[in-house]
Amino acid sequence: MRERLRSRIEKIREKGNYREIRYVKPVSDTTIEYEGREYLNLCSNSYLSLHAHPQVIEAAKAAVDEYGAGTCSSRSISGSIELYRILEKEIAAFKGYPGGLVFSTGYMANMGVVATLTEERDVIFSDELNHSSLIDSMRLSRAKKVIFRHRDLNDLEEKLKKEQAKGVRFVISESVFSMDGDIAPIAGFMELKKKYGFLFILDDAHGTGVFGPTGRGGAESFGLNAHMDVEMATFGKSFGSFGAFALGDGIVIEYLINRARTFMYTTALSPATLAASIASVRLIREDPSFRNQLWDNIEYMRSRLVSAGFDLKDSVGPIIPIVVGDDAKAVEMQHILMEEGVFIQAVRPPTVAPGTSRLRLTVVRSFTGNEMDVALDALRYGGQKVGII
Ligand code: PMP
Repeated sequence: MRERLRSRIEKIREKGNYREIRYVKPVSDTTIEYEGREYLNLCSNSYLSLHAHPQVIEAAKAAVDEYGAGTCSSRSISGSIELYRILEKEIAAFKGYPGGLVFSTGYMANMGVVATLTEERDVIFSDELNHSSLIDSMRLSRAKKVIFRHRDLNDLEEKLKKEQAKGVRFVISESVFSMDGDIAPIAGFMELKKKYGFLFILDDAHGTGVFGPTGRGGAESFGLNAHMDVEMATFGKSFGSFGAFALGDGIVIEYLINRARTFMYTTALSPATLAASIASVRLIREDPSFRNQLWDNIEYMRSRLVSAGFDLKDSVGPIIPIVVGDDAKAVEMQHILMEEGVFIQAVRPPTVAPGTSRLRLTVVRSFTGNEMDVALDALRYGGQKVGII
């Protein structure tokens, strides 16, 4: 066993894909300490910086005082404390769905939803760039899998014409793609749904709180809020907390409670986490200034990156891919940025397709103008050094 693992690790190293954990400590809303030096964090998914908002932190502290540090069992046994009921009610109401169910992570929500709702006689059509949690959820499912080209409605339509199902057909897509920052043609999916009659599952992990006129997510930006058959998202990104949720009809939620193994067989979330999520839902619902400030920062960063000659591909929001191509060059650019005090990770295969290694930067609400200028200077310098601008 040890020999086998050693040789596999060597192969990973040879390919330049070796990963090491970097232990960091938050210093401010936007900076972290790593090995004794402070860095600007250019890869946080806390788009609205709510992880550091005083109300969110206070809510978490108060929940520990009231409920203790842990929930002591799975939700089905005795872990479903009142905070779950409040969170499920408020997140479902915010997103406009009749029912909601909180899972412990987005990964588990996707596993639960896809593996539980699909059966052997079904066919799942999935965007080729869907998140690994969706890919793994399909591996668990007995349904037939059909992959369509990224955001390509024509390809999906061709495949829908060819692949009939004895059972139900499902189409699954992210709203905002995690590594590319581009948005799915949600209105187009809805048109195809009318024509071909499938169920649509949307992963709005990167859309909720950020996209749409009121922050209700990717679907809202197409005027299609609450139109999905099942929608999921995580509390780990714009909410700045942890955990996730699935939304849909009451009967869908009832079935998931009874059959989703990633719901049933795991310890319930901690009271602090649930309370932080409730506070974040309320802040996002009631205060548009978080979103407005974020979009001002997005505009600032994107316009200057474009002027500097970067190709931002089809990205539209806070996730900005700087595709370098070659794995080693992406790592070189990462090192240059780190030297300049900007914390970033090169994203390489298997997270992204071979030949598309990149830096995936994210813009957050609490960046100051000065911090963004530091990041931009470092990116220009690094981009020139590796020859992509
Ligand atoms: N879906 C997408 C699109 C994601 O980007 C992620 C997180 N990287 C997840 C699901 C999983 O969410 P979580 O981190 O809560 O497990």
